Amino acid sequence: MISTMDSTPLFTAALGLQDPWKVDEIRFEPEQGEIHFDLACDAKRLGCPVCAAGDQSIHDRTQRTWQHLHFFQFKAFLHAPLPRVKCAQCGKVTQVEVPWARPGSGFTLLMDALVLTLATKLPVSAIAQMFGVSENRIWQAIDVHVESARQATTYSEVRALGVDEKYVGRRLGYLSIFTDQRCYIASAYRASIVNPLVRQLASPEEAAAHVYHLYVVTCSQRERLQDYLQSHCIQVLIHYPIPVHAQAPCRSLQRDPNGLNISERDASECLSLPCNPQMTDDDIAKVIETVNLFKAP
Ligand SMILES: [Zn+2]
Repeated sequence: MISTMDSTPLFTAALGLQDPWKVDEIRFEPEQGEIHFDLACDAKRLGCPVCAAGDQSIHDRTQRTWQHLHFFQFKAFLHAPLPRVKCAQCGKVTQVEVPWARPGSGFTLLMDALVLTLATKLPVSAIAQMFGVSENRIWQAIDVHVESARQATTYSEVRALGVDEKYVGRRLGYLSIFTDQRCYIASAYRASIVNPLVRQLASPEEAAAHVYHLYVVTCSQRERLQDYLQSHCIQVLIHYPIPVHAQAPCRSLQRDPNGLNISERDASECLSLPCNPQMTDDDIAKVIETVNLFKAP
């Protein structure tokens, strides 16, 4: 007879509950548009959640409620008296964790999963409205899972990083990391490049006054040095091959009648060595060693 049929085992299975948990009673409230499942835990004694000692006494039970996935148009809630275990072994009184929800959450795990799935496509306000809860509760569920996903993310495989200078401009500190690395490369070059054919520029008066956007040396055999380094897979570039006073907008300016010999010489001899923040210590050592081995013909 249908009227006496007990549907609680069916819902126990449908909710995925396992021993010692089961559905004890179902309260259907069609006027409120709600269905309530009262769960029960049959066990008289449980394992300690802290030290895993088995067969400990139950200290007390606290009634808790979780919102679950809707059953069709009906809001669904689970209610359960959560036991706290008093452990004779470690002496602690601890609330047991339940398999259908994360600790401290008012949503079941399935509800969390649906919220997260919907949140990839819908605004939080729409999801909150759909489930009849505050936006704050939706955000709490999203934040917990986003944070745990972040904790589980590793960046050890990252080999390159892009930096948006718009954000650098907002003083977020990325620039200083890269500047520090450029200064580190420059100090290694300055200390270790010792080749009479390759001239280093004067040091800045204050070490912190220069960011080494380029690391420039000069060499009277620049084209030979350039070809030599490139044949060893070291990319070098000539920045500013034309001195400022010889560039088109400046040609009409008054200048020293004796010429600007130092500027002209530097422009014809300057060469920029690799100096980018992605370089490894091995890369830096290779540049130093290769430059030092450059010989006159
Ligand atoms: Zn214990």
